Amino acid sequence: MMKRLADLPESDGHNQDSLQEECAVFGIYGNSEAHLLTALGLHALQHRGQEATGMVSFDGEKFNYFKGIGHVGENFSAGSKTLNDLKGHVAIGHNRYSTTGLNEVRNIQPFLTEMGFGNFAIAHNGNLINAERLRTSLVETGSLFQSTTDTEVIIHLVARSHQNDPVGRLTEALQQVSGAYALVSVVDDQLIGVRDPNGIRPLILGKLGDAYILASETCALDIIGAKFIRDIEPAEMVVISKDGIKSHKISTKKPSRFCIFEYIYFARPDSSLEGRSVYQARKDIGGELAKEANIAADLVVPVPDSGVPAALGYAQQSGIPFELGIIRNHYVGRTFIQPTEAGRTSGVMMKHNANSEIVAGKDIILVDDSIVRGTTSRKIVTMMREAGAKSVHMRIASPPTTNPCFYGVDTPEKDKLMAAKLTIKEMCAEIGADSLAFISIDGLYRAMGEKARNPDLPQFCDACFTGEYPVIETSYNKIA
Ligand code: AMP
Repeated sequence: MMKRLADLPESDGHNQDSLQEECAVFGIYGNSEAHLLTALGLHALQHRGQEATGMVSFDGEKFNYFKGIGHVGENFSAGSKTLNDLKGHVAIGHNRYSTTGLNEVRNIQPFLTEMGFGNFAIAHNGNLINAERLRTSLVETGSLFQSTTDTEVIIHLVARSHQNDPVGRLTEALQQVSGAYALVSVVDDQLIGVRDPNGIRPLILGKLGDAYILASETCALDIIGAKFIRDIEPAEMVVISKDGIKSHKISTKKPSRFCIFEYIYFARPDSSLEGRSVYQARKDIGGELAKEANIAADLVVPVPDSGVPAALGYAQQSGIPFELGIIRNHYVGRTFIQPTEAGRTSGVMMKHNANSEIVAGKDIILVDDSIVRGTTSRKIVTMMREAGAKSVHMRIASPPTTNPCFYGVDTPEKDKLMAAKLTIKEMCAEIGADSLAFISIDGLYRAMGEKARNPDLPQFCDACFTGEYPVIETSYNKIA
């Protein structure tokens, strides 16, 4: 007898072992060069995931796919056979970053499956908090999983649905999952885009001629010359086909809780999300930080690249000159986006170098977007001292990161988060700075245009700073 999910023991949705991903998705319908435009879109979204990339396309007759470890350019180079073999008028793509070391080819998205009703391809950014429990139940009742990702749970739920049409099947599947998801999917000759009911992860809609585009960020539209239309709404599913675009609600829309960390760090500064420029948001956060925690100094120095807009805002607000006291080598990936501690440590050294002429003999304010494990801050402060800085004051453009994210941004377990273990004074001593200050949570909300954080209904998901998780219940019905 099939076990109802409600019969299974309540598991903690915040399982440390569950696979978490921070990824990019892209999809396009209605352009004969959909495969080329997808490769470009994925390239613009490279910052969201650098370990692997993949694409699925449909050419009217057959589905084509390719998945590879590494960057977009390494896998989809212009004129390559790989790319030519992906020719189609519909395509979806994915950039992946795995955080559990399971960077195996079988986990690379998009996933393509043959269902009773036809082919079904899907790519996911986010993290499902009830995936493990659903998976256990699905396996107990006969499903065979091909990967270790949470995304595959959706595929099995679609396969088991009794709904007639693929859109109904996907809707029913999504009604059983909890957490954060921005999805793109191809079902025969349709491109589908969906966002979770709280709209935690971004998904935007654009247009290029007659073609529609779905992407994690607007920078993926700019690179192909497409026009931004709007954000996909929380709980909205759009179905794009030769008949145009149709919008459905997959469930009741919940209060929007867009991830504030997208503005702080994750998104590209030239993107605009939820009607707000990421660059401007970062500058405003830096300005607010200067209002809250300024100190007399000669220079404001950003930790490149992540701290640059906030440092600029800080400098403009405080009137202290902005200088590039650290130079970044751009041929190294994001420090954090490396699975092992050894890789992360050498990554920081390979990535930054002191601009000694600028910082020697100066009192400097170093601005970065966040402290997670403390690896970057420790190295950078030491680097500034070795370059002859007289004093080093660290200012952080986010509140202390005290809690892991379970919705798709990689933050480590609580016991690896420096701010979860140490007081700010202890952190300051640990990184070797003369002073350390973070923007307050209310200051962060002020920078985002609010008077303060509304504790009853915060405008954003800020769980990494507050520990208040907007989706904790595992709400589902049953496996149909
Ligand atoms: P850490 O060195 O562990 O303290 O991490 C902080 C640095 O990593 C900062 O300079 C951020 O720019 C960057 N960072 C923070 N959070 C993340 C994340 N979730 N993924 C990738 N990089 C991050």
